[in-house]
Amino acid sequence: MDIKAEYLIKSEYFQKLLKSLLTEKLVNKIISAQVKVDKKSNAIDRFTLSPITIEKADDIVDFPLSNFIAYGYARTDSTAKYLHQSVGGAKDTKVGIIARPCDTRALIELAKLHQVKLDNLFIIGIEDRGVALNVSRDLKKDKSIDPNKIVKEKIDDNGLNFKFQDGTIKTSNIEISDNCLRCSRKTPVIADLIVSDIGVSIDSEEVILKIVSDKGNGLVEKSKIEKKPLPSEIKSANKEKMDEILKTAKEKRAKDLEEWAKLPEDKKREEIEKCSMCGLCIRACPVCYCVDCVLAKKKKDKNINKETYQLTRIAHVADRCVECGNCYNNCPSNLPLSIYFMSLNEAFKEKYNYCPGESVSDIPFRSAKGIAKSGSKA
Ligand code: SF4
Ligand code: SF4
Ligand code: SF4
Repeated sequence: MDIKAEYLIKSEYFQKLLKSLLTEKLVNKIISAQVKVDKKSNAIDRFTLSPITIEKADDIVDFPLSNFIAYGYARTDSTAKYLHQSVGGAKDTKVGIIARPCDTRALIELAKLHQVKLDNLFIIGIEDRGVALNVSRDLKKDKSIDPNKIVKEKIDDNGLNFKFQDGTIKTSNIEISDNCLRCSRKTPVIADLIVSDIGVSIDSEEVILKIVSDKGNGLVEKSKIEKKPLPSEIKSANKEKMDEILKTAKEKRAKDLEEWAKLPEDKKREEIEKCSMCGLCIRACPVCYCVDCVLAKKKKDKNINKETYQLTRIAHVADRCVECGNCYNNCPSNLPLSIYFMSLNEAFKEKYNYCPGESVSDIPFRSAKGIAKSGSKA
């Protein structure tokens, strides 16, 4: 994607952009994010975000931007899954979404399957390093950090950092997910605008805003937010850091795939047999789209064993996995699902030159057209 212009904007203007999307009638709904609030105590859990559909501009009071960049939606939620399941894939209405790079890949796969209408989307993409998981749980072990005093978070080379009410900054020993560490798609595939905190200090009140489409430019102009051209030192810091993050991710990906390839087949089978058929990987997968899941029915009828259950799911999803890692991140049995799917994607790329989630015009290789296109006789 070509970037038309780059600016620095105050982070607080992000919600102004969301409001303008609604007031200017560019969309009818926005999938926003809300932090978890305990119903009894009203205590805020800033590490646990869930999606929420908003239709009135006045209902956008605050968008938890630094939390969203650092943690994403919690558990089995993701933008692409929520858009498909709760907002009908934007087939009949215009929807504004905030999407991570893997979400944009999932949207492309869902569009190929006619489950999402891309033309109806206004996409604000995130340029990201990845997500930190289970932060609430991990911080319970670290008494030196008071979650109630955190005002901002940011992931850097050392892991997750927090800024506190008194202005101090502390690095935790919390790392991003293993899948994100080896993900080499850190920028959205499709977007109208891109927001990034990479190359910007946690102490800054600003974020980078990149304009990708005319639609994106139109929103920024209509919203009348103050913006300044991206200073050259931040532009360089953003580019250098992104190049470094990608290089490190590609190296880890190659190393992890090599180790996985060395694992004997019986060991891989043993891992698959640890599946408890809980179905969380299906709930979490943005490209598992069937309303009536055949596996849920077979499990209910006690008509399937663990190995067949998981192998069936792998076969269903194999040529559309966008490597988001949600299946692995949610699996209570720690099945190595994300590296398994990555190894399949590597094989498909090598054999059929096919990579899911990169272009709507790429035909899945399992269709005859895909094989003809790739030139492979296999
Ligand atoms: S899998 Fe990649 S694109 Fe998705 S959240 Fe992790 S780093 Fe970002
Ligand atoms: S989440 Fe894990 S245990 Fe549950 S069905 Fe999926 S692979 Fe099996
Ligand atoms: S199979 Fe796993 S890694 Fe692949 S798209 Fe689904 S949830 Fe994401």
